[in-house]
Amino acid sequence: MKRKPSLPDSGYRGRFAPSPTGPLHFGSLVAAVGSYLDAKRNHGTWLVRMEDLDAPRCIPGAADDILRTLDAFGLHSDEPVLYQSQRTAAYDAALQQLRTSGAAYPCSCTRKEIADSALNGIEGPVYPGTCRHGIPAGRTARAWRVRTNNDAIGFNDGLQGFQSQHLERQIGDFVVKRADGLFAYQLAVVVDDAFQGITHIVRGADLLASTARQIHLQHLLGLPTPQYMHLPVAVNAAGEKLSKQTLAAPVDVSHPIATLMQVLDFLQQRPPDKTAARSVAMLLDWAITHWDAEKLRGRRTLPACA
Ligand code: GLU
Repeated sequence: MKRKPSLPDSGYRGRFAPSPTGPLHFGSLVAAVGSYLDAKRNHGTWLVRMEDLDAPRCIPGAADDILRTLDAFGLHSDEPVLYQSQRTAAYDAALQQLRTSGAAYPCSCTRKEIADSALNGIEGPVYPGTCRHGIPAGRTARAWRVRTNNDAIGFNDGLQGFQSQHLERQIGDFVVKRADGLFAYQLAVVVDDAFQGITHIVRGADLLASTARQIHLQHLLGLPTPQYMHLPVAVNAAGEKLSKQTLAAPVDVSHPIATLMQVLDFLQQRPPDKTAARSVAMLLDWAITHWDAEKLRGRRTLPACA
């Protein structure tokens, strides 16, 4: 059942965009709950978008499993779920636009060639620009990259403060269509956030460094830039991000109230006494009314369970 907004629509449109590469774990539930509470506190619309673009990494059944888990926590998308696997034509059109304006170019370099000749930036090797002015003779195109420059791209993050990057120096021309023919996350997310009219993006701080690339693409494609708010990432006792790679356990749907309490505790929302938490719906209502993101200001990571 959908939650009925108590006030007229405010124009706020938020989203949760999981990748169905496995079941939802604590860290991704934090992003789901945080984005939901911020949307509902602002009388907004909250959407779920399934980022099932990277077919080789998606696990059959994981998308449905994630949606069932969200349901158990009372988190229902206000509009039909959008599946990125069905959006190839839109990504193609965006790439075409980037090609036509000269912003995107084909690249023949392999990962190894780049690693051998590149300097390290904030997210690995910075593309050295080998194919920027054309593919070397005798080579064939593998991927598509987008040109970057060294103008500062800055934005005011709702929790992490002012952020700025010089893409050419710190990231390099980045891939928008991969050598295996799949569209890259950075392009798909920008196209879909605009398509869905997203005004506010609330997600984990592990994506903070991606934001400048997304703003660059928004500028190149003539799309609006939403507001960004990056929540602290849940880390384990060793300080590692909870993820499939660190073997984070799936969230416990058999005790949704207790799990939701842990999420609210993680989000520094000081969960209420038992009277406000007799059901998931009551707890969510309490959490919407009391949502105060300020309590997370400046936090990039927090331990998963205090
Ligand atoms: N699908 C991405 C992930 O699960 C999140 C994308 C986003 O929120 O921008 O990490």
